[in-house]
Amino acid sequence: MSDTPYELVIGIETHVELATESKMFCGCQAKWFGAPPNTLTCPVCLGLPGALPVPNRRAIELAITAGLALHCEIPAHTKFDRKNYMYPDLPKGYQISQYDLPLSKKGWLEIATTAGEKRVGITRAHLEEDTATSKHGEGYALVDFNRSGVPLLEIVSEPDMRSVEEAVAYVNALREVVVFSGVSEMRLEEGAGRFDVNVSIRFTEDSQTRWPPQSEIKNLNSTRAIEDAVPYEAARLWDDWQSGGEIRSRKGKITVGWSPDRRQTFLQRSKEEVEDYRYFPEPDLVAFEPSRELVERLRAGIPELPSARRARFVKEYALSEYDARILVADRALADYYEESVRAAGGEPKAVANWVTGELLRYLKEDGGSVAGSKIRPAQLGALVKLVKSGEVSGSAAKGVFAEMWKTGAEPTAVVKAKGLTQVSDEAAIAAAVDAVLAENPRAIADYKAGNQRALGVLVGQVMKRMDGKANPTVVNHLLAKRIN
Ligand SMILES: [Zn+2]
Repeated sequence: MSDTPYELVIGIETHVELATESKMFCGCQAKWFGAPPNTLTCPVCLGLPGALPVPNRRAIELAITAGLALHCEIPAHTKFDRKNYMYPDLPKGYQISQYDLPLSKKGWLEIATTAGEKRVGITRAHLEEDTATSKHGEGYALVDFNRSGVPLLEIVSEPDMRSVEEAVAYVNALREVVVFSGVSEMRLEEGAGRFDVNVSIRFTEDSQTRWPPQSEIKNLNSTRAIEDAVPYEAARLWDDWQSGGEIRSRKGKITVGWSPDRRQTFLQRSKEEVEDYRYFPEPDLVAFEPSRELVERLRAGIPELPSARRARFVKEYALSEYDARILVADRALADYYEESVRAAGGEPKAVANWVTGELLRYLKEDGGSVAGSKIRPAQLGALVKLVKSGEVSGSAAKGVFAEMWKTGAEPTAVVKAKGLTQVSDEAAIAAAVDAVLAENPRAIADYKAGNQRALGVLVGQVMKRMDGKANPTVVNHLLAKRIN
C-alpha cells in the first residue's frame, strides 16, 4: 500500500484558541489578532509580581464542550499546574496548564479517507494559557503580550494515523467538530489553531521491527504545511538512519520547526524530557470539580455534529454518502436542505438533486451565500411539489428555477406567467401522438423489430410538437399503447 520503505506513525497535538470574550485568567480582551502591540494587557497577563489569576468560567465550559464533542470522559476532579520554562514570550517564567488531571480524556474522533472511515483516539484535552508573540530583527527582539493569557485548549491525539492523508483528514474533522460546537472559530490564518505533529517511521530491518525516536514538528498552521512537512521529515529520518546518522543513537525525541520558504525542517531542541518542565500544582488556583449538572447541560447544548448529521442524512433521507457529504459540508446548506424537504412534504432525493445540482451551480456561477439566495426553502419545496404532481415537467422546472433565482418569484407564478403548465390531458396528447406516428412509419417498424431507442425518438417528436409541455409519462404510455 505504501510507496515508502517505512510505515508512517503520526500523532497530533492541536492548540485551539477558545472563542471567549476575555482571556483565561484576567479580564483583558481575548481577540488579539490585528490589535496594536501591547494594548490588551494587564498585570495578570504581563506576569507582574503579586498579580493573581481568576479562571474564566466560559473557557472551562468551552473546554468541557470540546471534550464531550470528542466523546471524552470528563473526570470528576481537575486542577491547574505550573509548567515551568524560560522563554521571552512567557513573562511569568511558567505557563498555567494542566498536567495529570486534564479536563477531559479518552475520547475519539472519526475521520474519513479514500480508504474508508476510521477512529483516531483522543488521549486528552486540557486547558492552558497562550504565550506572547515575538518578532525577531537584526540584533533585537520585540515581544507583544496581547496573546499572552488567551485561553488555549490542547487536544492530544493517539499516534493512530498512518499516512499524511489521515493526518489531514484528522485536522479537518477536528476543525469541523470544534467550529460546529462553537468552541472556537479556529481561524488558522490568524494563528487560532496550531498543530504539533509527531512523526515516526517504522520498518523492518534484519528481520526486526525498527522504530526510531520521533520528531515533533512544531507549530504547523495549515493542512498544506502538514502535507509538505510530514513527508519531508519522515524521509529525512529514513535517510539519517540509512546513512548511520544521529537517529541511531538518539535518546528521546527531537523538536523541529518547518520553514515553508526553504521547504525543510530545522532543529529547535533535542531531548526534551517531561521532567524538564518541573510541573507542580498551581498554588494560586484551587482544584475544582465540574458538577455533573454542568456537564450534562453542556452536553445537551452541543448541536448535531457533521459526522452524525451525514449518517442521519444517509439513513433518514436515503441519500448517498456523496450527497450527504456535499450537503453537510456547510451547516447553512444542510439546514436549507432539511427545510426544503419539509416544505416539499418529503421527496428527499429530488430536493437533494436540486440543492447539489442547480442551487450550488448558480451559487458558484453568481457568487453569494445560501442564506442570501432569493430562492427560499419554502419555494424550492413548492417547485419540487409541482414536479411531483405533474404540473410542470422536470426539464421545464429548470427554467422555472432560473427565473426564481433571478427574481425570487413563487414557482406557481412563474409557471403560469411562462405558460409552462404541463399537459397531462390524454386527449390533447393522443392527438400529437397520432400525428407523430403517421409521420414516422420507419421508427414504428424499428421499435417493433426490438429497437428500444426508436421509442425515444418518437417521444422526442411528440414533446417537440407540444413545446415540451407534455407529461412524458402519459406520452410514453400512449405511444406504447397505440403501437401495440
Ligand atoms: Zn490581562
